[in-house]
Amino acid sequence: MIRQKIVAGNWKMNGSKESIVSLINGLLEMDGSSSEVVVAPSFPYLSQVDELISASSIVLAAQNVSQEVKGAFTGEVSTSMLGDFGVKYVLLGHSERRSLYGETNELIASKVKAVLDFGLTPMLCIGETLAERESGKTLEVCEQQLQAVVDVVGIASFEQMVIAYEPVWAIGTGLSASAEQAQDVHKSIRAFLAKTSESVSQKVQILYGGSVKASTSSALFQMPDVDGALVGGASLDAKEFIAIVKTA
Ligand code: PGA
Repeated sequence: MIRQKIVAGNWKMNGSKESIVSLINGLLEMDGSSSEVVVAPSFPYLSQVDELISASSIVLAAQNVSQEVKGAFTGEVSTSMLGDFGVKYVLLGHSERRSLYGETNELIASKVKAVLDFGLTPMLCIGETLAERESGKTLEVCEQQLQAVVDVVGIASFEQMVIAYEPVWAIGTGLSASAEQAQDVHKSIRAFLAKTSESVSQKVQILYGGSVKASTSSALFQMPDVDGALVGGASLDAKEFIAIVKTA
């Protein structure tokens, strides 16, 4: 099964009107890529980025969304609002949302459902902490995080989703998982999904995230079950991000 690679930049809470113009202009210098290139700016910049990338093949993602459709939810942003700005993907379950904002597996599952119901594509992040890895619980944690979503939206919906395996110990630490470590977990994630649906397990794209740089991406992308990357820090530098895309 050939799965298209995705290279997504998660800008997190970074950027300004000015810096985003130069970052996108830098990315637009990239000549065509066979991978899908995605950028995820903060909410206030979605409209600006949507316009800047309109004539390109770069795709827009949001970093979060409300599980509610509309109404009295001060400070929240709905799926239809994201739809107004050409958003395709929505990051959900990022470890920073889980650990800093108390997002539970159940809340994340309800957000996944809201995103699917509106017709956008969830990019579901899962991954273990260092303590969990060291106590041999990597797969157990990843499977629990996946199962909570399967319970709410069903296995078939995973054909309309992307999974990002992001070991918490590798995020923003400069300590990337090795290509072999990533491959091991990606393969196990696919095997877990295959227990319920072989076809879904073969179709779903599984990205790796956690300190991805151009110097590490090429080995990662050679792994049979690694279908791209979710890049944080290195996505804020157009040259570095393009170099990562080129290795895909
Ligand atoms: P990083 O972040 O590349 O800076 O480690 C990845 C992520 O959090 O998605």
